[in-house]
Amino acid sequence: MDKDALIIGAGLSGIACALRLSASGYNVVVFEKNKDPGGKIYEKKIGGYRFNTGPSLLTLPELIDDLSTDSGIKARMEFKQLDIICKYFYSDGTKINAYKNPDDFAEEVEKKTGEEKDNVLEFLKKCEYLFNLTQETFIFNPFRTLKNILSWHALRVAFNFYSLNAFKSMEEKNRKWFSDKRVEQLFNRYATYNGSNPYKAPATLNLIAHLEHNIGAYIPEKGMYGLIQFLYESAVKKGVKFNFNSQVEKIILENNTVKGVKVNGETFKSNIVVSDADIFLLYSKLLGENRIPKYILKQELSSSAIIFFWGIKNKFPDLEVHNILFSRDYKTEFDNIFKRKLIYDDPTVYIHISSKFISTDAPEGCENWFVMINVPNNTGQDWDKLVNEARKNIVLKINKTLDTDIESYIEYEDYVDPRDIEKNSGSFKGALYGPSSNNKMAAFFRHPNFICRFKGLYFTGGSVHPGGGIPLCLASAKIVSDKICKSHKLVI
Ligand SMILES: Cc1cc2nc3c(=O)[nH]c(=O)nc-3n(C[C@H](O)[C@H](O)[C@H](O)COP(=O)(O)OP(=O)(O)OC[C@H]3O[C@@H](n4cnc5c(N)ncnc54)[C@H](O)[C@@H]3O)c2cc1C
Repeated sequence: MDKDALIIGAGLSGIACALRLSASGYNVVVFEKNKDPGGKIYEKKIGGYRFNTGPSLLTLPELIDDLSTDSGIKARMEFKQLDIICKYFYSDGTKINAYKNPDDFAEEVEKKTGEEKDNVLEFLKKCEYLFNLTQETFIFNPFRTLKNILSWHALRVAFNFYSLNAFKSMEEKNRKWFSDKRVEQLFNRYATYNGSNPYKAPATLNLIAHLEHNIGAYIPEKGMYGLIQFLYESAVKKGVKFNFNSQVEKIILENNTVKGVKVNGETFKSNIVVSDADIFLLYSKLLGENRIPKYILKQELSSSAIIFFWGIKNKFPDLEVHNILFSRDYKTEFDNIFKRKLIYDDPTVYIHISSKFISTDAPEGCENWFVMINVPNNTGQDWDKLVNEARKNIVLKINKTLDTDIESYIEYEDYVDPRDIEKNSGSFKGALYGPSSNNKMAAFFRHPNFICRFKGLYFTGGSVHPGGGIPLCLASAKIVSDKICKSHKLVI
């Protein structure tokens, strides 16, 4: 039994953990409530169109290569770096191409806005510094352990604490750095990469811009779901056993020590259980009387999304794979999402068109549009009404920005709102990234990957340390599997 490990959830982090544990000699069994693996990373096919339903942007793909190497997978996932990371459209008619080369990007920014090129490049250098300074302490190691807190990298963070800008909001820092409001808005947007509000999130999060602008934005050759298929098939080949349509009902604990899980009334025994399920739902549904720690409940949740999937029977050469149509007033947009829990009538619209890169994702002469806006998490709003209103506002915005009549080109349509995201991936209130970073101390308060209170129970995935998003979920899987292997001395 010591060599058995049970995993709850076949999301990215659950599969990554399964691969790593299996490579270290464990018999791994995964229970997934859905009929397929992937969790938030999923796909939808309508007519001749294929859509990613979750993530569309990949950064730090080397973490996937590391996972393959560490798990003894010989095959490699193929990725391509995008030449244009994103195309930005502003309500005053300005268009900015974020070229992959920082120098070209900064030049484009200067040409379109007058913001000095050197100022943009210096900002990107600062973002790189922030990432290099914090990555070991806040991302790639278990955070609240004595070893981490007393490490050289943590001491370096402590000595340079002032330069982290942890007590300034992203917006405050960027407002002072840039003279042009459009450039400030472009960089404030990175707070939304973990579902946060740039007017509240610490300026330390500017490090996210480094991943895209200095390292690169990538797309898997076979689409985002191709990533899950690759990892899932590799795990099956390694002997990991997956049980789908298998919802874990309870984690069995005796004197706070893990003994197994209960699934469909049946008991599966193991001294090691890894949960990739949302931390809020884990405590409220699977851990019986054990209450979620109060400090976790105090954390504001990240935002959610409304996504329209449109099969468009036309081609739009002015658009790229990733496009942002900015709202005219970012402050009002975020006040609506996080304070009023509603949707601004001029939302920032994200249009992702994977068929620009993977031609088979849409029929000839057509495009697959994934049209997303950030919205509050689900607190019981009238979503049918909100989706209706949002759709009208999105159509108006797209028509105005692209000088078109987009509705006349929509031949297939579907959508998801926070209720669906909650139901499909089991994320509390449909929050995309677990707790938000709308708090200067958020990084310190994320739920750890293991705690003394429960022996043999480990936590991975987007709702726990180090956070949501593909790179961080891969990081948490590594932290958890390393800890299990060390604790149970089974590294081979
Ligand atoms: C719309 C959207 C857009 C996004 N965009 C990006 C992006 O562009 N780039 C990026 O890096 N990240 C993005 N993300 C975030 C990223 O998708 C997630 O952080 C990541 O996929 C979460 O992986 P996870 O391991 O936490 O598992 P999840 O995907 O949360 O999966 C958890 C799994 O556990 C299962 N489960 C839960 N409870 C149980 C139970 N009791 N028994 C059995 N199974 C259970 C669920 O069914 C689910 O399959 C986006 C997310 C969404 C939803």
